[in-house]
Order: sequence, then structure tokens, then C-alpha cells
Amino acid sequence: MVPIKSTLLHNCHVDLASVRSHNDRTVLSLVRSGALSRADIAAGAGLTPQAVSKIVARLMSAGLLEETGAVRGGGRGKPRTALRLRGEGAFAYGAYVDRDELRVVRLDLTGSPVSSAVVPLAPMFTPADVLDALEPVVEPGEDVLGLGIGIAGPLDFRGGAVSPNGLPGWSSVPLRALAEERLGLPVVVDKDTNAAVLAEAWARPLRDAALVFVGTGLGVGLLLDGEVHRGARSGAGELGHTVIQLDGPLCVCGRRGCVEAVHAAAASGVDAARVVAAAVANLVQLLDLDQIVLSGRRVLESPELYLRAMPDVDVTVTAFGPDLVPVGAGLLVLGELF
Ligand SMILES: [Zn+2]
Repeated sequence: MVPIKSTLLHNCHVDLASVRSHNDRTVLSLVRSGALSRADIAAGAGLTPQAVSKIVARLMSAGLLEETGAVRGGGRGKPRTALRLRGEGAFAYGAYVDRDELRVVRLDLTGSPVSSAVVPLAPMFTPADVLDALEPVVEPGEDVLGLGIGIAGPLDFRGGAVSPNGLPGWSSVPLRALAEERLGLPVVVDKDTNAAVLAEAWARPLRDAALVFVGTGLGVGLLLDGEVHRGARSGAGELGHTVIQLDGPLCVCGRRGCVEAVHAAAASGVDAARVVAAAVANLVQLLDLDQIVLSGRRVLESPELYLRAMPDVDVTVTAFGPDLVPVGAGLLVLGELF
């Protein structure tokens, strides 16, 4: 994974700060998919056994790896000691600033949620309201790597300023800096759809895929060649504002016939699903995607309707439910280690 912010780990536990080399991350990534012996790690990473011993010792002393029971390697020879991630070795928080609520999860090192919270947000909530909602549920500690926040775009991924659609008064809000100052821990901000596709890619192998998020708006998180694709201005994935019907209904963006506007104006649930399906078919044609994951409130309300309408590619509905975005936001932070 491409490092998001090289300083992300600086404020954390002193031992974690040393876990930054490419080889360290390679070893952690290999072990993430299942317990492995040192010999298996050496073979998988293309490293010498001596190098692996040193890396493993360092990661164990940082509390990120632990030895588990013996495993038999290939059926011959004596059983070898296997290594696995130490779940409680590090934690990350992930948050989703939705239209009417804040969802926060605490992930352990394996990416599994260990706690979660939902805080209602009043209509027309302000940045200060979000910070007030975050503070009681995010507990900084030396084993906490940071907080990832997923929110609607547009936003500046590198600079951490957000101007989310549908939130009047939110214009170039430096959400990352504000949250870092209030909470006292490193913060990463990304589009909700990017966080969502990251969560899906963490859970299973995905390479060229789109996470289609159908809620109040309609957005896409793109995974191209295994990496989240954000585009030149962090603006990739605005499938909802591509035009699907010339002279169609007026959209909030000022144009006519956007997918989002046509979807909202659909006469029935079946028609609405067909609109999304047509847009997804265009996307598949354009990018040669082989996997589509559906998510968002509208899909979760009637998944069969949307599944039936989709084009002939591998289409699934997210298994994360409403915690998809907060989990992905936490993985933005945790992913720095892998
Ligand atoms: Zn539009």
C-alpha cells in the first residue's frame, strides 16, 4: 500500500514508529492472510531466513506479531512455530460522517472492529458538532495509530480539507487539522466511497473493482490494479454526476440528466435499480472491471432489486452493512502498517 502520510506513525508508540520499512510491511501483509512459519514468510517475501528472523524479532518486540501453536510445513519435517498478527498490538479508529449520524469503530490490528458507536447529528450540523461528537468516543492512547474519517466529497485527500455536497456552510473545512488538534492523534480524511472500497479489498482479493454506493447520492469507490484510484484532484468516482439522459431532470449540480437525478426521479424501485445498472454497465465498459460491490442505504433496503438489475459481471452486496465506511476509514490508518 502506498504510504498516505509518512508522519502518521510519529506520534505513536515508540516501537511502532520503527515499523516502516518495505520489508516489515511485506511480512505483516503475508501474515495477515493467515498464520505462517518463518520459512513460509521467507519463501513468500523472497527474503533470506536470517533477514526474516530479524524482522520477526523486531515486529514481535513492537507487539505486532505473536507466536501461535506449531504448524506442520508441507507434511514433512518437524512442526514449525507459526506467527500471526497480535490483534491487541495496535488499534485504529474509523469514522463515517453521514448525513444524520456519526458512526465510529475501533479496529484492532487484524482490522476487526472491537467496539462501535453511533452518535446522532442534528440537521445542518457544523464541523464543531462533528468534533464534539467524535471527542467522547475516540480515546487516544499509545497503541492507537490514528483516526480515519470518511465523508462525502468533494475533498482534498492530501490537504485534508473537505467541502461535502449537501452540507451547507461546509466549504474547504480543514477537517483533518481540526480533528488532529481536538483529539490529539493523527487523522486521515477520505471520501466515504474510497473508504468503503478499501474495506472490501481488505476482506477479500479485489483488483479491478468498483464499490457502488447508493444512498442520498450515488458515488463509486474505484479500485484499479489493486489500488484506490482517487484521480488528479481526489475527485474520481462521481458516477452520480455523469449524464445518462440528455435533457433529463435537473440535478443538484446544475446539469440535466445526471444518473443521480434520473435515479431520484424514477417512478418505481425497479426503475431506480435499472438506472443504477445502466450507469454501472457504462463503468464496466469504460474500465474493464470484473467485480462490483453494491452498498449504501438504498441498496441495503432492497438488495435483491439492485442485484437483479445489474450487468453480467461478478456483483455482490457488501457484507459489512452500515459499518462499511467507518471500517474502511479505520483501515486507511491501519493500512500504513501493511
Ligand atoms: Zn449532477
